[in-house]
Amino acid sequence: MNVKNTALKKQGERRNGRNVDVLTIYFYPNKNYAIARAAMAEEIKIYDLIIIGGGPAGITAGIYAARAGLKTLLITKNFGGQINLKAVEIENYPGFEKISGLEFIQKLEHHLKKFAIEIIYNIVEKVKKENDIFIIFTEDKKQFQSKTLIIASGAEPRSLGVKGEKEFIGKGVSYCVTCDGPLFKDKTVAIIGGGNAGFEAALALAKWAKKIYILETLKTIQADKVNINQFEKLGAKGEIITNVEIKEIKGSNFVDSLVYQKRDTEEIKTLFVEGIFIEIGSIPATQFVKDLVEFNEKNEIKVNPKSGETSIAGLFAAGDVDDMPYKQIVIAAGEGAKAALSAAKYLKTLNPKS
Ligand SMILES: Cc1cc2nc3c(=O)[nH]c(=O)nc-3n(C[C@H](O)[C@H](O)[C@H](O)COP(=O)(O)OP(=O)(O)OC[C@H]3O[C@@H](n4cnc5c(N)ncnc54)[C@H](O)[C@@H]3O)c2cc1C
Repeated sequence: MNVKNTALKKQGERRNGRNVDVLTIYFYPNKNYAIARAAMAEEIKIYDLIIIGGGPAGITAGIYAARAGLKTLLITKNFGGQINLKAVEIENYPGFEKISGLEFIQKLEHHLKKFAIEIIYNIVEKVKKENDIFIIFTEDKKQFQSKTLIIASGAEPRSLGVKGEKEFIGKGVSYCVTCDGPLFKDKTVAIIGGGNAGFEAALALAKWAKKIYILETLKTIQADKVNINQFEKLGAKGEIITNVEIKEIKGSNFVDSLVYQKRDTEEIKTLFVEGIFIEIGSIPATQFVKDLVEFNEKNEIKVNPKSGETSIAGLFAAGDVDDMPYKQIVIAAGEGAKAALSAAKYLKTLNPKS
């Protein structure tokens, strides 16, 4: 027996009418000291894996973790994540030619719940790592502990915050060209945001739309030259309008126009468009690990693309929250699977004989 994988527990007990102290020695041949100590405290349940997030990445990670036999807890605010914002059908997930966001989420949730996995609906506020154990603090002041952690908390598209934006989501306003671009065949559309994301969106839309405006708030365009050159090749089909402030999105059942102000002349103008794509970035949900892990300049968690590992041992990230390109459902699901398999492999290094 080695002191490194041994833990002591002193407990008062009543024996033969007398109070006695009982000293129990816990021996964990395959665990390190920190895990042995924590496992000793019966009131503290230590999961193999905790997953934060109930979007496609978190749900897929949950399915893979449960199938790998990991004692898993999934903590999420809701199921579906950004798919809840999807007002039109999903048409690019293999196996489903067309499926509503709601039905897709229900199918994912139903599949996950077939497995032995604990689920808690809550908001994670903070994560700490102490003695090789992750401690997860939730909004309702509870704590959960785990040997590994997958962050799959996704992102939220940055909104413009103008009148009409929320009202017309799915009725002409979209945050995802890859998802909704084909719906705008032969239509006139505007892209808000003249960065690389805006130009890439415009080039993708050029396959379908008949006219594409890019509106940029700054005086000059900040996108890469290569993207600008490609856009210029569209000729009269593409037009850039700079130095503007978007004022309002208008329409009746569907978007029909966009009101903006020229910053230099203060002139108010109306652009008649049937679609508006907002490409001003997204905000990764990483606040609760801001002091723990390494990020890129967009506040996305840096991961090893092969494994989903982050800068912290035992901590993995998957889906829109990480620094991998192409924010799509199928990619988030794939990354969730990869992170769960990597977590299972990592756990074996902690406990080689299991
Ligand atoms: C309007 C719109 C339409 C789209 N359409 C398509 C499409 O047609 N096809 C496609 O492939 N992709 C589409 N996408 C992109 C796709 O939705 C995302 O790539 C995908 O949802 C990312 O999955 P995720 O699991 O990484 O994150 P998310 O979907 O963002 O899920 C994150 C989860 O984490 C939870 N969470 C966040 N913070 C916390 C916290 N602190 N505590 C607990 N839980 C937390 C959230 O509640 C949520 O359940 C669309 C995106 C948008 C915005």
